[in-house]
Amino acid sequence: MPASNSIIHAPEAMWASLLRERSLTAAKQYDHPAILNWFRNHSFFYSDRIDPVQAWEKVRPLGKSEVAEVPVSTDDSIREARTSGTSGFQVSIRNNLRERRFRRALLYRPQLFYDLPAEVHQVVFVDGNWCAEAGMAPKLFTYGGVLYRTWFAGVAAETGQIHSLLRSLRPQLIRGISSGIVRFIDQAGDSLRDLGVRYLAPGGEFLQPEWRQTMHDAFGATVLDRYGSTESGALAWQCPLCRRYHANVDEIVLEADADGLLVTPLFVSSQPLLRYRLGDIVSFDSVAADCKIRLPTITIQHARRDDWVIAHDGQRVSPLSFQFEQIPHLDAWRLHQNSDGSICLYFESAQPDVVAKQLGRHLADALPNQLFELHEGIWRFDRGGKFKRVSSDLA
Ligand SMILES: [Zn+2]
Repeated sequence: MPASNSIIHAPEAMWASLLRERSLTAAKQYDHPAILNWFRNHSFFYSDRIDPVQAWEKVRPLGKSEVAEVPVSTDDSIREARTSGTSGFQVSIRNNLRERRFRRALLYRPQLFYDLPAEVHQVVFVDGNWCAEAGMAPKLFTYGGVLYRTWFAGVAAETGQIHSLLRSLRPQLIRGISSGIVRFIDQAGDSLRDLGVRYLAPGGEFLQPEWRQTMHDAFGATVLDRYGSTESGALAWQCPLCRRYHANVDEIVLEADADGLLVTPLFVSSQPLLRYRLGDIVSFDSVAADCKIRLPTITIQHARRDDWVIAHDGQRVSPLSFQFEQIPHLDAWRLHQNSDGSICLYFESAQPDVVAKQLGRHLADALPNQLFELHEGIWRFDRGGKFKRVSSDLA
């Protein structure tokens, strides 16, 4: 483990109370030389990169294209997760079972400070078009003295199905993909306030102020955003007390580099990442929050939200119009409008011919009479931006 004081070393039953305790105490300084030493001993890959006398800041950041070269430990419980590719590059991330459980503990950390009953119904909006029914057995997870019963709703599932799931379950908590929740609200109408939802905790995408307002107005609930990545797990969370974003700096070294955020998860040893360039632009707040939670707070810059596309008739088309999630075998996509108005859709798929036809049909529906090109390989579009799937150069 890059850091000997990561909570992952403690018994799993203690993770919640230790993460709570650490949230309430001032952050310790990192032992940078010890962390570098751990990486140097990990493998030739890292010992080749790190000079024995090198200062932390001088160690070359790890790029997305280099992750595949990091040696992965042999462990039967290791599973692979692919990033969404919205940064223009898909990366495979490998974690063992204990690391995946610890990532969940970090993800649930903010809920230690929510006002929730001892038993919580939770609905999570995920990618895909499958939606649970209320009679189905939920996933059970006990954390911080709360039993979570969780059901999943695909963001591309039928609105009626999701609506009836929510009506039957009356969840106290809704989490999941921001744009998916907004799409559901747009299609469901405004009869959601009587469902008794206390908190909406969206994540996975930059939460635009308009989306936040839409969620708040529709459910009459408190909206508390999350910020994380497939590579690192939960990075920061909006606080129910001060509303700023507290960063999990005790478990992940965060560096607000001018060229984009660098992350070093301290609890990962199966595929350890040192100064991995996530690329998002964030900054640490210079004035500490007036809050009992002592983790430092960050501001996520607003530059990376999705753009609107201008249609052939001059109408603005919302990025939410491009819901390609229901297309089978589509792994990732980026849509870009050039300054001359033409449209390029970049995509990744193991079955490109079938997928290209379907994408073409969806695009023609969303943007009638507009010329567009389809390109296989989102890496052909070399612009970064974790939060952007839709971008435009058209003024
Ligand atoms: Zn706070």
